[in-house]
Amino acid sequence: MEKNLLLSLVKKYDSPLYVYDASKIEAQYKRITNAFSSVKSLKINYAVKALSNVSVLKLFKKLNSGIDTVSIQEVQLGLKAGFDPKDIIFTPNGVSLEEIEKAAKLGVNINIDNLSILEQFGQKYPKIPVCIRINPHVMAGGHHKISVGHIDSKFGISIYQIPHIKRVVENTGMHINGIHMHTGSDILDIDTFLRATEILLDAVKEFDTIDFVDFGSGFKVPYKENDIQTNIEELGERLGKRFNDFSKEYGRELTLMFEPGKFLVSESGKFLAKVNVIKQTTSTVFAGIDSGFNHLIRPMMYDSYHHITNISNPKGRERYYTVVGYICETDTFGSNRRISEVTEGDVLCFDNAGAYCYSMTSNYNSRFRPAEVLIYNDKDYLIRERETFDDILRNQANITLE
Ligand SMILES: *Cc1c(COP(=O)(O)O)cnc(C)c1O
Repeated sequence: MEKNLLLSLVKKYDSPLYVYDASKIEAQYKRITNAFSSVKSLKINYAVKALSNVSVLKLFKKLNSGIDTVSIQEVQLGLKAGFDPKDIIFTPNGVSLEEIEKAAKLGVNINIDNLSILEQFGQKYPKIPVCIRINPHVMAGGHHKISVGHIDSKFGISIYQIPHIKRVVENTGMHINGIHMHTGSDILDIDTFLRATEILLDAVKEFDTIDFVDFGSGFKVPYKENDIQTNIEELGERLGKRFNDFSKEYGRELTLMFEPGKFLVSESGKFLAKVNVIKQTTSTVFAGIDSGFNHLIRPMMYDSYHHITNISNPKGRERYYTVVGYICETDTFGSNRRISEVTEGDVLCFDNAGAYCYSMTSNYNSRFRPAEVLIYNDKDYLIRERETFDDILRNQANITLE
């Protein structure tokens, strides 16, 4: 998105502000579907938790995407956006049986990631098909099936517990329609990913009722120039071929699924904030912005890198700045960044602000959450208003203390 457009949006909607470019989301969606064009039955389920605005979900609906949800509220958001329950998969971790029952009653696809709930659900609803989440115990870069990191993971049913799963299926008469994995680590080494694939396909062979195989996500996007990213075209070619061969061998046409969040929305988003104050100390120049980890927590939570540019003075001489927030805790967005000369009142632009940014905001320090804007067909749509003081007080009981 062009800097003058971004500056005009800050004028129009004030700061801080999230802006998403629908055309980038579309391009990423096309990129993944093109990469897997050899697969006859491909289904992309956008992971709602990355960016859960209902208007963004409608965009995915328009693209023919399904959605991946991790809470009953995300399921409800998807239904609100107009998704057919059949195009929604519920992939929670550690939720109650009641929550899974609610989702099942709404008609969405159910994914279960532990034996206890699988057994209870199977006993109560043997007719409702269920997908199971498997932990293949493969770690990126490792040569072994087992890695300490992933054997301890709370996600999925261990691949070594397949006999147990089969016993549950036999005893309850339930129907397993899908096999799923999502290790959560970045796919950088395609050989490692294909190794995990073999383990997953072995699990598929253990059941003769499978309709789909869900490979989760883990696509890495670039945060800086020349950053390594998942070679999705190579993955599509190699996994696609393997999957088609397997489907033939299995004897029925299987659907290949992915559920990317970050890959689809990360690069579409920009976060815009104004510089409140420039503070020069003996060693550092701080640029303090009108935001904090209440609006963008990723740098503090998992050291993520967000490229920062000064769009008010893009041609200025570059200097080193440590960009910080206004929260009364340490909230450093970036240390010693080279940014073109910053003056108080300038607008800084943070890249990769589409995924896990707005969806992780809070009201800490009793601040308002920012507004969100979607650029669609060259028009800007306010898809979420900035909060007001009423939002801060909502649900609070202002009691009288005698
Ligand atoms: C969060 C999540 C995803 C999306 O992961 P990304 O890294 O954003 O692509 C996919 N599947 C499940 C089950 C998830 O919990």
